[in-house]
Amino acid sequence: MYCAKCELQLDEDALFCKRCGTAVDAPDATEKIATKKKSIFAPVMFATQEEANRYRIKKGIVVIITLAILCGGLYILSRTLG
Ligand SMILES: [Zn+2]
Repeated sequence: MYCAKCELQLDEDALFCKRCGTAVDAPDATEKIATKKKSIFAPVMFATQEEANRYRIKKGIVVIITLAILCGGLYILSRTLG
């Protein structure tokens, strides 16, 4: 097949033109990109419910630590300024 823009000959499974970067509008090319995007943005899957809970707890701890650092910083700042 050929690039629609610069007419360079491309591989049959090429998604983009090697020369000008134009996306090849072959019917299966867009499908391939769609599947790739799906796998990237797929939600994080956990093997067990326990694993999911552990992940949630870890996230909660990170949020608490961040808040603690913020509060501590504000406290020190208010004491220094006041
Ligand atoms: Zn091209």
